[in-house]
Amino acid sequence: GLADRLQGTIQKIRGKGKISEADVKEMMREVRLALLEADVNFKVVKQFVKKVSERAVGQEVMKSLTPGQQVIKVVQEELTELMGGEQSQIAVAKRPPTVIMMVGLQGAGKTTTTGKLANLLRKKHNRKPLLVAADIYRPAAIKQLETVGKQLSLPVFSLGDQVSPVEIAKQAIEKAKEEHHDYVLIDTAGRLHIDEDLMGELKEIKELSNPDEIFLVVDAMTGQDAVNVAQSFDDALGISGVVLTKLDGDTRGGAALSIRSVTQKPIKFVGMGEKMDALEPFHPERMASRILGMGDVLSLIEKAQANVDEEKAKELEQKMRTMSFTFDDFLDQLGQVRQMGPLDELLKMMPGANKMKGLDKLQVDEKQISHVEAIIQSMTKNEKIHPETINASRRKRIAKGSGTSIQEVNRLLKQFEDMKKMMKQMSGMQGKGKKKGMKF
Ligand code: GDP
Ligand code: MG
Repeated sequence: GLADRLQGTIQKIRGKGKISEADVKEMMREVRLALLEADVNFKVVKQFVKKVSERAVGQEVMKSLTPGQQVIKVVQEELTELMGGEQSQIAVAKRPPTVIMMVGLQGAGKTTTTGKLANLLRKKHNRKPLLVAADIYRPAAIKQLETVGKQLSLPVFSLGDQVSPVEIAKQAIEKAKEEHHDYVLIDTAGRLHIDEDLMGELKEIKELSNPDEIFLVVDAMTGQDAVNVAQSFDDALGISGVVLTKLDGDTRGGAALSIRSVTQKPIKFVGMGEKMDALEPFHPERMASRILGMGDVLSLIEKAQANVDEEKAKELEQKMRTMSFTFDDFLDQLGQVRQMGPLDELLKMMPGANKMKGLDKLQVDEKQISHVEAIIQSMTKNEKIHPETINASRRKRIAKGSGTSIQEVNRLLKQFEDMKKMMKQMSGMQGKGKKKGMKF
């Protein structure tokens, strides 16, 4: 990720009061590489780097952030800005039904997204959508939409594959009016490549059905190709928004940035899986972090700053040095960590966390933390300071008092001992570092 890439430069500018032009140049080289790696269009990268450089040079370094963090912050803010605000609204026709055309290449996810969108409209906005099967070319395309409809208990309008898509769209809209559907979602055919035929047909449907939205569905995994596809569809047909699918895969999502900069059309939603509820509004800041490959580093930094009281941190550090760290301090620290939010949420924000496979399954056990707190609270003042005095009968009493087991008490005492040992080693290291003028 970008944070790792910048490490070298960050070391160099540590302790400087201002970020110089040379520093920025060096960092921008890394930013450029990170963006190209994420499959952002090179023209977009060039413009972007220029803009960020102008902003970063000569900036005073904020006390609360390292220069590296500060540059990352500028980069992330500018990326977010480039992708526009959150724009997941959907048009509403003055006279219902609102007509939405779903277009895109074969396999991009049109049919799936049609179902997801209908599901969202009904669940979140209490709407009554009608799905329209207008892909008469792909074998089993009609069946696929009907299956989606059945799964969601939503009606699907179809006239088989012998009636033209234009006629299907026309009749579907009439039916929607009669039966008071407020949304009509037309699932159109795709091709493997853009061709005149396809565009001709889409244009006809557009002219006849006068859609309120034309959503281009693109596969995020296709990277630069997605940008070309978006450009061609917009030139030929005019699109009103983009749905970026398959973001649950490995892609860095650079296509999002390029599509937005090249077409100037908003990305409205992102597809995060094959299931019918896997459609989310587009969040520019999240996408910016993803493109940079750095998790939600910034929110993590901000959260940490907001919650960890500096005075307290200093006091703790001192205690660690002098080895006077007690169970009371431990309890305090737990409290501070907890204030930052649920632990598994925090873990997910860590850089690289999105690449750690089983993380979604990992659940930091909040219950276990409450047990630890209860155990410590059941100790006497003296026991908290001198845990070595906690013998077998005291352990039994503490377990009883905290409603836990002797095993749990034993485990915590052992962990505390280990932790103190570790601190001893760490404070030794810190001492050495200090002499050489290194900062941790
Ligand atoms: P269409 O040809 O454009 O109608 O594409 P489909 O809706 O048939 O989707 C093609 C394939 O992509 C199907 O296997 C879908 O399940 C899958 N798909 C669609 N959207 C997503 C997504 O957001 N994530 C993942 N992982 N798969 C998706
Ligand atoms: Mg389809």
